[in-house]
Amino acid sequence: MDSRWDEDEAAGFGGDLGPRIYSSRLIGSDPSLVLHGGGNTSVKLQRPALFGGNDDVLLVKGSGVDLAKIEADQFTPLRLAHLLELVGVAQLSDREFDRQLRVAMMDSTDGAPSVETLLHAVIPHSYVDHSHAAAVLTLTNTPSGERHISEAFGDLVIVVPYMRPGFGLARLCAKLVAEQMTDATIGLVLLHHGLVSFGQTARESYERMIELVTRAEEYLRLRGAVTEPDTGRQMPDESLGAELAELRFRVSAHAGFPVLLRRDSETVGRGFARNPDVATLSQSGPATPDHVIWTKRVPMLGRDVDAYAASYQAYFETHAASQESDDREPGAPLVMLDPAPRVVLDPALGLCTIGRTATEAATAADIYRQTIDLILRASALERWQALPAADVFAVEYWPAEQSKLRRDETPLEFAGEVALITGAASGIGAACVDEFLARGAAVCGIDIDPSVTGAFSTPSFLGVACDVTQEADLAAAIERATARFGGVDMLVLSAGVFPSSARIDALDLSEWHRVFSVNADANLAILRLAVPFLRLAPRGGRVLVVASKNVPAPGPGAAAYSASKAALTQLARVAALEWGPLGIRVNIVHPNAVFDTGIWTEDVIQARAAEYGMTSQEYRTHNVLGVEVTSADVARLAATMCGMAFAKTTGAQVPVDGGNERVI
Ligand code: ZN
Repeated sequence: MDSRWDEDEAAGFGGDLGPRIYSSRLIGSDPSLVLHGGGNTSVKLQRPALFGGNDDVLLVKGSGVDLAKIEADQFTPLRLAHLLELVGVAQLSDREFDRQLRVAMMDSTDGAPSVETLLHAVIPHSYVDHSHAAAVLTLTNTPSGERHISEAFGDLVIVVPYMRPGFGLARLCAKLVAEQMTDATIGLVLLHHGLVSFGQTARESYERMIELVTRAEEYLRLRGAVTEPDTGRQMPDESLGAELAELRFRVSAHAGFPVLLRRDSETVGRGFARNPDVATLSQSGPATPDHVIWTKRVPMLGRDVDAYAASYQAYFETHAASQESDDREPGAPLVMLDPAPRVVLDPALGLCTIGRTATEAATAADIYRQTIDLILRASALERWQALPAADVFAVEYWPAEQSKLRRDETPLEFAGEVALITGAASGIGAACVDEFLARGAAVCGIDIDPSVTGAFSTPSFLGVACDVTQEADLAAAIERATARFGGVDMLVLSAGVFPSSARIDALDLSEWHRVFSVNADANLAILRLAVPFLRLAPRGGRVLVVASKNVPAPGPGAAAYSASKAALTQLARVAALEWGPLGIRVNIVHPNAVFDTGIWTEDVIQARAAEYGMTSQEYRTHNVLGVEVTSADVARLAATMCGMAFAKTTGAQVPVDGGNERVI
């Protein structure tokens, strides 16, 4: 492993925190050192004290902050003297420890400091870096972990037996540092947990981290414990959507809320799921205990969610009694988290991960893919042996750890749900993507315009270029949506064409067919393809059809458009009747005069206005309320009709047109 320190780059980070920010980001952006918000760093500096002189201050990463993107104000300053006095206290409850960290903070309005703050305080060096380096975890998660560590590192490190992070671990480290620290010591190995390095400069501490990891990698390499050469290979395209949706439905039922299920696109997970020893290899535990909040302690093997939930319940009941209770109200019982798996290993599906958001599911995938690598390398070295279940439980149910997840405790309206939106690249479709994303849904947007693939840059969006008149393309798009998110709960039919004005005596039959093929026929195909998924939506499927004011009030010159939207409306009404017993709601919006959409060019507006003998400006606001209707207005109504306000409504047609005299 090479140092990525670059003096020129480092010089770009000014101020006394500059080097600290630079090397924190180097560590945070290297997945072989930390994944997704893991690890923490600190620096000891002097700051002017309010009453004169200087305070010795520890600036440590805030809890839950991602090292890869850390900024100066995400280091929490604490009074070092108070922290060092704390270490002298023999016993401190979690609750009191937490309170004392707040007392030590220089500014009570800052974010909470890392749970490992006190460990940073007790190391005498200015710079301290803590990672969950993959190579070191591979060595320590074996039956002879301590021997491997001492052979790999000699007297470069102090070995610290496993202890849950917090006050106790910091006290233990302080004791071992006092007893064992020599001039040769450059780090600590926290068994089953990670690595700490330190130095007088940011560069020294960072490069010692790299040196230790390089030694661990070399140790593994010499013993043949290397990463599989086919890592990163992509899975072939397969039609597994129906099986994924079925699995997601049952996982959501056990979770008690809708979840996203993501099928990993790399082959490594399926290879591991098919490993004859997977039942032993995968059920030992995580690489480092704080992965537990993303992955749970062990993956589910196969698809028996009932059995997984029952074994999670048993795990909870076994360990809950011994969990310290000083964080809870006196007598309050420990409450079990949902028993649903977060990682699935299935011989056909490969590696699937579960989360309430696309980011959570992707995080679990990144962590577990690396865990597989570690397990296989540790097996080549000796045997994978993770931390005992009781210790993992203690971290899983430690309030400090759970608060990392609880940060977004109030889930958004559509959290864990999936919307498929047609015509997503522009106009009403694009506005619907915005609105459904804002309400927490994962969205697959399809459009004939290939720019849809990059239209929204969030892990919650998957854009698929697709001609809705081609049934095979539609089926492939749905397959991709289910591989990424696990199902389709809401279908928004927004794609449509609006042809230029033509009187019936001049209306060409081929034009009539072209308009019908997009506005009507394509929607029959997508409804038929989507219904097996909609019926497995954890909260019931919803279809929202974007029709037109021209259905109740057609206009001259728009025969093909009006008739095709009327056919679509009638199709939707029949779907409401047929699918009501499946719990699927089908509702219709009738927008009018929405001019910020792809189908309205200035020419079309003028031609339509001329039909009514108006200027284009009069035409834009020609409604009872005298307002202009925008795509965002339509999207808000569409999302609302998919939400709880319309939970008991199906087959409804709601105008969004500023009020139309012919409709009213
Ligand atoms: Zn850690």
